[in-house]
Amino acid sequence: MLPFSPPRSDEKIVEAVAEVLRSGWISTGPKAKLFEQKITAYCGNKVTLCTSAATTGLELILRWFGIKEGDEVIVPAYTYCATANVVVHCGAKPVLVDVGPDFNITVEAIEKAITPKTKAVMPVDIGGFPCNYDEINALIRREDVVAKFQPGSENQQKLGRMLVLSDSAHSFGAFYKKKQTGSLTDVSVFSFHAVKNLSTAEGGAVALNLSEPFENQTIYSYLNTMSLHGQSKDALAKVQKGGWRYDVIDAGYKCNMMDIQAAMGLVELERYDSETLKRRKEIFDAYAEGLSKYDWAQIPVYETKEKTSSYHVFLLRIKDISEVQRDEIMQEIFNQKVAVNVHFQPLPLLTAYKSRGYNISDFPVAYDNYSREITLPVYYDLTDQNVQTVINAVVNAVEKVEQPA
Ligand SMILES: *Cc1c(COP(=O)(O)O)cnc(C)c1O
Repeated sequence: MLPFSPPRSDEKIVEAVAEVLRSGWISTGPKAKLFEQKITAYCGNKVTLCTSAATTGLELILRWFGIKEGDEVIVPAYTYCATANVVVHCGAKPVLVDVGPDFNITVEAIEKAITPKTKAVMPVDIGGFPCNYDEINALIRREDVVAKFQPGSENQQKLGRMLVLSDSAHSFGAFYKKKQTGSLTDVSVFSFHAVKNLSTAEGGAVALNLSEPFENQTIYSYLNTMSLHGQSKDALAKVQKGGWRYDVIDAGYKCNMMDIQAAMGLVELERYDSETLKRRKEIFDAYAEGLSKYDWAQIPVYETKEKTSSYHVFLLRIKDISEVQRDEIMQEIFNQKVAVNVHFQPLPLLTAYKSRGYNISDFPVAYDNYSREITLPVYYDLTDQNVQTVINAVVNAVEKVEQPA
């Protein structure tokens, strides 16, 4: 079986991890701090905190902003459950909205969903394709929208408007109007999970990019502390001479990134543009070219004049098919020993959200995108020949299901 998304675990990665294991310091320390600085330099945001996952990074920010029971946070229906789960963790209500044909949340849907309870919006760059950030940023600053905002915490008061928290789990290295993700809005959170473009096995990063009067370095220090139980000194500082005494400023979380993880990230970041993105783009281009000659193939948009994707997942759609036919086509592709996937089942299809009262019929575009979608494998070690194998498998499968013998 051709795998769907194996990580790039080559000798360089193995060596970098081994070096940390031999160094005597394996948890959060110099590697994690260096990785943070390199991410900031790469993305052009202000300050970055690495975390145990994107999920924990998103939740740290929502908590920092004071999101709580009675609040609403606007989230696209078409995303991975993590985006909405963190809102639920805070006791607030994820207000799900429909998306556009490019899979991303639309500005129109956000505008319609805003109420006096709305505290934040969480756009998701599905597949690595950035959302319309200029329009989203302009909307939440519009006079009548600002007038609706009712601050319920000190930081909400200070911001004076809704927070735009980008779930950039897919879009590390993507561009929007010549600016990189991480620098496009107030705060963006990246994922370095094993299946993501840049992997540290598990991991995430909070890219802080708030404007004045916020001091991003101060927020960093606070979040860093809160990622370590609210303990005023990290483990490395505590073992220095005279440094053992500490305080706990608040009942924090435990979601720091280890140096073992950061060591992988440093290797991956170093070669991200020159190898990872380059190869992923080649694969996207090869799928687009190989499949666009078929009338039934709907190729995802991944490059426009204003946007360049990070080429995270190739979201092929088949025109004019039902969900059942899509499932049959996937079975046929698997029969040809190629692993494919679906990104994503819209949240209202999942028990956790169905039972919270969301109904898929309220999200027609999300359902249409999902019901015809098949995600093709994209990863560094996928060869040109593998790409051809995938294309052949898809073509055979579609023809078999659409014209049964
Ligand atoms: C993977 C993913 C996350 C969660 O990332 P973790 O690092 O696993 O917490 C969040 N949002 C989206 C859209 C994702 O695909």
